[in-house]
Amino acid sequence: MNHLNIQEFLVKKVSALNGVGSKISNLLKKKKIEKISDLLWHLPRGHTDRSNLQTLDKLEIGKIATIKVKVTKYNFPRIRNLPNKVICEDEHEKIDIIFFNSREGYIRKILPLNSIVIISGKVNHYKNKYQITNPDYIVPIEKQEFVNKIIPKYSLTEGLSESVYRKLIDKVLKKISNLEEWHTKDILEKIGNVSWSESIFYLHEKKDNDLNSKYYRRIAYDEILSNQLVLSRVRKRIKKNKKIIKEFDNYFSEKLVRNFTFSLTNDQKNVIQEISDDLKSEFKMFRILQGDVGSGKTIVSLIAAANVIRSGYQAVMMAPTEILAKQHFDLANKIFKSTGISIEFLTSKNRSKEKKEIQSNLLNGKINFLIGTHAVFQKNVIFKKLGLVIIDEQHKFGVKQRIELSNKGGKDCDLLLMSATPIPRTLAMTLYGDMDISRLVQKPKNRKDIITLSKPEDKIDEILLYIKRQIDKGYQIFWVCPLIEESKKLDYSAAVKKYNYLLKKFNNKVGLIHGGLEKEKKSIVLKKFLEKKIDILVSTTVIEVGVDFPNANVIIIENSNKFGLSQLHQLRGRVGRGNEQGTCILLYKKNLSDNAKKRIKILKFSNDGFFIADEDMRLRGFGDVLGYQQSGAKNFKLADPIHHEDLFKLAEKNVKNIESDEINFKKYAFLLRLFDMADIINEKNL
Ligand code: ADP
Ligand code: MG
Repeated sequence: MNHLNIQEFLVKKVSALNGVGSKISNLLKKKKIEKISDLLWHLPRGHTDRSNLQTLDKLEIGKIATIKVKVTKYNFPRIRNLPNKVICEDEHEKIDIIFFNSREGYIRKILPLNSIVIISGKVNHYKNKYQITNPDYIVPIEKQEFVNKIIPKYSLTEGLSESVYRKLIDKVLKKISNLEEWHTKDILEKIGNVSWSESIFYLHEKKDNDLNSKYYRRIAYDEILSNQLVLSRVRKRIKKNKKIIKEFDNYFSEKLVRNFTFSLTNDQKNVIQEISDDLKSEFKMFRILQGDVGSGKTIVSLIAAANVIRSGYQAVMMAPTEILAKQHFDLANKIFKSTGISIEFLTSKNRSKEKKEIQSNLLNGKINFLIGTHAVFQKNVIFKKLGLVIIDEQHKFGVKQRIELSNKGGKDCDLLLMSATPIPRTLAMTLYGDMDISRLVQKPKNRKDIITLSKPEDKIDEILLYIKRQIDKGYQIFWVCPLIEESKKLDYSAAVKKYNYLLKKFNNKVGLIHGGLEKEKKSIVLKKFLEKKIDILVSTTVIEVGVDFPNANVIIIENSNKFGLSQLHQLRGRVGRGNEQGTCILLYKKNLSDNAKKRIKILKFSNDGFFIADEDMRLRGFGDVLGYQQSGAKNFKLADPIHHEDLFKLAEKNVKNIESDEINFKKYAFLLRLFDMADIINEKNL
């Protein structure tokens, strides 16, 4: 086959292979193998040594052996449940080959009488005779090199044998040798100087392949590159459509800044500048702002909104929950004071008369700035001239959803996402490579670092005393109990128990929220806490991320081992958001492991979410870190952002070169198909 035919071959369905009917393709589907190339990504888990041909007098019971024997006699009992038997021999001994659930015709075909065959399988002993039951391999002597060697072992599914699977892989491997190289010499040298097909061959056939072998890295690089090419292409497409430039002076933004009781951090100033440049440019803004809770993202986005409004457009801000949206609305009202800008609040709860009024005032342009929940994106909410969509992102959006959001506001509308989950840089590249990224690393000056302590659980009396004193001073407490069983059946019993316990000790001024509560009930409890009607809030992990509870100064986290570092950092970020010192107490059961000690040390040492995210990834491995699972970052087939960080960086540079030339880009189109990414850029709405 030539180069192009091979490419077409690889993206075909597995059923295009000889010998793959509906039975096998259904079995393969269970292993998520649908296209021919998917066979290649399904790498062996290990190897079995079948290399030493053994004579029958040297067999060892319980070991895997490969033997060369002559088929001498059949024994087909024709009684249900009795196995078929074939007697074979070499010059020394006899052996029984036993088959359960097999058909006679099939046995006659693979083991013709008097033929010499190669058989491989586990040797056992029965009534003083050697036997091999349901051998892994039986091949005629001419094909002995298929078996008589070190053989890859695949994780397969019931009904799909290693032998069948290897025959399929073999068919594919035989066909892929003529591919032309798509990388330049220069890049190729940097990734190990091995060709694609050579790498695939090694990954399947040779032992000693790990994530860091040059063969693995070569293929991983292909995958990383295709991921980044797609994201970059999305970004280019979005920016290709020119928008009307937004023109504004600093009149509003200066007014806002004067309403602050603080001065902006340098990070905030820089990001405001980046955003202003985007707004003033003829290309759409497609930007994500990352920063810890409390780093001042909302303030930055409000200034952006003010600038957009100054330029004659409307702005809209969406938050994931009503409480959060309301806090943004209140903050906006405070700092937009005396600007004359009209701000409205919209959730699904507004009465229909109010809704109608808001809708008509958006349409006639009387409302400049709309803040709310998902309701702001309902079909009947139509703006006169929308120039900016701000999304306080708690839910993770994938590439496709981001494209939709950007389209929502129309061609002159800019998009700003905000994320309170700091993530490592390599991960940011793979998740948000289609967007421009701004980061707020610096904390506002008045923000004190949260003090983090650890205590064994049996010291609870000390902790209760400490809490009492805090409550007497007018402060509030979060008490977090993780779910007992995280996946199957959610178990809130620990939280409920603790709630009942604390109720008695603290005069009933205790509240409880957990994931099993309806949204309504949750927000009632949160409101009560916000209004200081309760002193302690017991919860699983559902405390709203962005909400300010200015009086909450202490967070107690039980069984803190159950949480990841990033998650613990996020949790403690909920206290100390007023001007007072925040404290986080990590409770643990006795006998901490070394790893657990390390984690506590990191949290005590640093309050920087980006640093902690990096450490988290290092300690736990990519993919396990909170929230990354759902984020789509785990969709890599082979690449791994921890092990292949350097390849990510290399790809980032390489993408720029490739993109400078459209013909060049086409060379890589095949890669996108190979890694199932082509459909993203074929979206009609791009
Ligand atoms: P985020 O959205 O990143 O969680 P916010 O913008 O809501 O952060 O800011 C958190 C709190 O810090 C708000 O009360 C805000 O007024 C205050 N704040 C923001 N920027 C600064 C700053 N530079 N100095 C002091 N306080 C600030
Ligand atoms: Mg916020």
